[in-house]
Amino acid sequence: YSTHSTMAAPVTLTSLSGKKITVPTGLFINNEFVPSSDSQETINCVNPATEEPLCSIVAGSAKDIDLAVQAARNAFKTTWGKNVTGFERSRLMNKLADLMERDAQELAELECLNNGKPVRIARDFDIGDSVQCLRYYAGWADKIVGQAIDIDQKTKIAITKHEPIGVCGQIIPWNYPIMMWAWKVAPALACGCTIVMKPSEFTPLTALKLSELIVEAGFPPGVVNTVPSFGSVGGAALSSHLDVDKVAFTGSTVTGRRIMESAAKSNLKKVSLELGGKSPNLVFESADLDQAASWAALGILYNTGQDCTAGSRVYVQDTVYDKFIEILVEKAKATVVGNGFDEKTGAGPIVSKVQYEKIWTYIDYGKSEGAKCVLGGEKRSGKGYYVDPTIFTDVTPSMKIVKDEIFGPVLSVGKFSTEEEAIKLANDTPYGLGAGLHSNDANQCMRVSNALEAGTVWVNQYNLLYNNVPFGGKKQSGIGRELGSYALEEYTSVKAIQWNYGEKLDWPI
Ligand code: NAD
Repeated sequence: YSTHSTMAAPVTLTSLSGKKITVPTGLFINNEFVPSSDSQETINCVNPATEEPLCSIVAGSAKDIDLAVQAARNAFKTTWGKNVTGFERSRLMNKLADLMERDAQELAELECLNNGKPVRIARDFDIGDSVQCLRYYAGWADKIVGQAIDIDQKTKIAITKHEPIGVCGQIIPWNYPIMMWAWKVAPALACGCTIVMKPSEFTPLTALKLSELIVEAGFPPGVVNTVPSFGSVGGAALSSHLDVDKVAFTGSTVTGRRIMESAAKSNLKKVSLELGGKSPNLVFESADLDQAASWAALGILYNTGQDCTAGSRVYVQDTVYDKFIEILVEKAKATVVGNGFDEKTGAGPIVSKVQYEKIWTYIDYGKSEGAKCVLGGEKRSGKGYYVDPTIFTDVTPSMKIVKDEIFGPVLSVGKFSTEEEAIKLANDTPYGLGAGLHSNDANQCMRVSNALEAGTVWVNQYNLLYNNVPFGGKKQSGIGRELGSYALEEYTSVKAIQWNYGEKLDWPI
């Protein structure tokens, strides 16, 4: 740790399990934790389960972002980029995955303290998936190859090289702090890029803890830098920086639009955006209603509804509407909402006061606009930003709860009579991230999958993501794809080398 100032000294937190977790509080630049170069500003982290402060960390300034970009550029030119083999990148990434796996329990407890999500889910899903994501892209690192294009079989050939795009700014949200870190870092490292990561100001602690593992794994200084900062400061500085080649963002559509604007106004850097959604989930009369209800519950209640793919609009065929709602309400009631340190907890608190209040504003809209609240909708007493599963039925397309992304465990259930009507309702949104359909009619499954306007369509399931399957949005839900081999395109730049080994130019033409 840097000794420049006490501001960058680590703090020790005690988790509910009694574990002592030491967390760096400085900015991670060039493999060192340092104070801000010119600011005294701090980010105050809060435990959403208790509303108690956890610790304060350094908030990076625009100048700090610039220093981190310089570090990343220097590493790109000297130790990383074209100066390291795919085999070596793969070795380091696998080492990092092993360290994450070793520290999974500690990372999960820290994620729970800062974000609220249950330790069990953070450990077994978020971190388990992130370890696999690193290993998946470590497998790609030595297989990123171009093509040899034989132009005429005798005098000319073209070779394409998939070169690392350069310095990447990565701006991530608070809903999956570790997993979004892995989704951004893994493909960028595999391709040979260097990184300036800006975690969310609400959940910066695990990104700092992971930075320690970057050093321990043996990555050269400057390859991965982490600058916690407020969005309007560090996020804005990163997306408008003239020496950043690419910015990858996950978060709200409003912020995504701003990022694209500043990329356009600065150096036209490449942009990938994973934004919001208002995803539909269709239940047809032939479906296994019990299974459809389980998937629908997972769709809206996983991560307490703080999910860009949340299946927040369920539409049910009129012939099975009442029966389905009955089953769904029972399933939703079975969710254990509580403190994430209890291994039985399935849904923790909402991440922050501001998000908690936003969700309650929407629940109030639902009631005042005339939807029928069949579950939840009542505030709990006591501490913690808890919102119990809330289901509204009898909704109409113009209601705010049907149109806007709520980002909480609040579901709207509507009715349709024909397949055509179901498709029309499902696509009646500016978003296009996910969509689900439940049916036992194979032809219907294919017809409806084709008609749904979304980056991912889940058939007889919902919300499952795999590291080898691409993920991203249509319409206003985003640009570009994460995961799978598709994400490699986001971090590479294709160069065509055209080689003449025999043609004589007869001049003038
Ligand atoms: P946000 O989009 O403001 O924040 C996401 C990230 O962007 C954070 O790191 C933030 O610091 C950064 N940021 C904010 N302003 C910026 C700017 N001007 N330039 C560059 N970066 C900036 O999201 P939020 O305010 O934390 O949450 C608001 C809403 O966003 C939520 O209610 C939800 O609807 C949506 N959201 C979506 C996702 C997702 O996974 N798609 C994740 C989180 C939030």
